Amino acid sequence: MKTAEDCLSQIIDFVSSLGVERVAITESLNRVIAKDIYSSRHIPPRDNSAMDGYALKWEDIKKASREVPVTLRCVEEIPAGIVPDKSPGRGEVSRIMTGAPIPDGADAVVKIEDVDTEGDRVTFFEPVGEGANVRRRGEDVTEGETVIAKGTLIGPAHMGMLAATGNSLVPVYKRPVVAIISTGDELMDIDGDPSSGRIVNSNSYSLFGQVTEGGGIPLILGIAKDNRGDVFTLLSKAKEEAHVIISSGGVSVGDYDFVQSVFKNLGARVEFDTVAQRPGKPFTFATLGSVPFFGLPGNPVSAMMSFEQYVRPALRKITGHRALYRKTVKAVLEEKLAKRSGFTYFLRGILSCRNGRMTVRTTGDQGSGILKSMVLANGIIVLPRAMTNAERGDEVAVQLIDNSLLAAAEPQYLDF
Ligand code: AMP
Ligand code: MG
Repeated sequence: MKTAEDCLSQIIDFVSSLGVERVAITESLNRVIAKDIYSSRHIPPRDNSAMDGYALKWEDIKKASREVPVTLRCVEEIPAGIVPDKSPGRGEVSRIMTGAPIPDGADAVVKIEDVDTEGDRVTFFEPVGEGANVRRRGEDVTEGETVIAKGTLIGPAHMGMLAATGNSLVPVYKRPVVAIISTGDELMDIDGDPSSGRIVNSNSYSLFGQVTEGGGIPLILGIAKDNRGDVFTLLSKAKEEAHVIISSGGVSVGDYDFVQSVFKNLGARVEFDTVAQRPGKPFTFATLGSVPFFGLPGNPVSAMMSFEQYVRPALRKITGHRALYRKTVKAVLEEKLAKRSGFTYFLRGILSCRNGRMTVRTTGDQGSGILKSMVLANGIIVLPRAMTNAERGDEVAVQLIDNSLLAAAEPQYLDF
């Protein structure tokens, strides 16, 4: 049986970017930028005032004091957005608004609150330093500077910077359409009759969320009954409409498990069908041209965990992310964990950080049908294949679902 590490590297080697598209800046949030963005301009474009006040030569008031104030003449008023046409000479000042360009010849601004005025006479009571209250041309960004590096996930600040540097269209990696199929005679839709004893198709919705969070465009194609014809119909549709195909259920070796054989009927090559891990041992990975098929197991936790470990990093590679994997920390176990060697375990954990020290316990029952364990988890405890039982007090690796814990952890617990 293949190891989790081998399966992951095989999948990651197989998938690649779908190329680049240009989207409107307002559509760029949470996309990955596909080129380095350079600024073709200085920001701000000219020296401008950080205050409402008076622009002047700092030397003109360097001897000003309460006892011996200095009075100068105001020659112009510069509202924001207007380019000044006078330059104050010795003994002259310009009234200036916040954001307005500093006139030639001036090298400092005095706040309006610090002066007295009478007609065009302005009186100063203390000196200012050269450059006071002046925002320098290019102090934020200089022409030619790289402002956003290729591979960056676009957040609100990046959108502002894209706008400031004149990019209304943004080059981003294309997102894959990800078909989601559930299989099983026992399944019904959300609004099905609870008294029927059937099971709600929850996998399509947890996977919908995971695909979206992973950067893909989810396409729920519904439920296939456990017969070859139904599975074939939905997988054929998926093949037509999606770049990536995910199914859940029907990948064990039961009489009603048709997914793997239908993958083959469609011309796909089955790369592997089991992984030495728990949960999620049955997992079929097949390929057809450039399309990956992920036949996830049906149990709600197994489906989500196999997605987490394999599909999420694959989607992140397809969508151009630099970091494919969750950050991992080390944490001290709060409980003893029973484990067989030969399988990698992915347990649902609750991490805590006290005084910079990370500790972790499980969410309770770790059955592959206990979806609540995923709801409660903020981390995934990874017990390596060769390991046997882990004792309370042992250090283990934990993948962070919730990165906010990183801020509180001391360095020795990070980058494990
Ligand atoms: P399977 O892998 O097809 O044998 O499915 C294993 C178990 O997972 C089934 O008995 C169901 O209880 C559960 N299951 C399968 N598919 C889904 C689904 N789409 N949503 C929720 N539970 C499911
Ligand atoms: Mg089934």
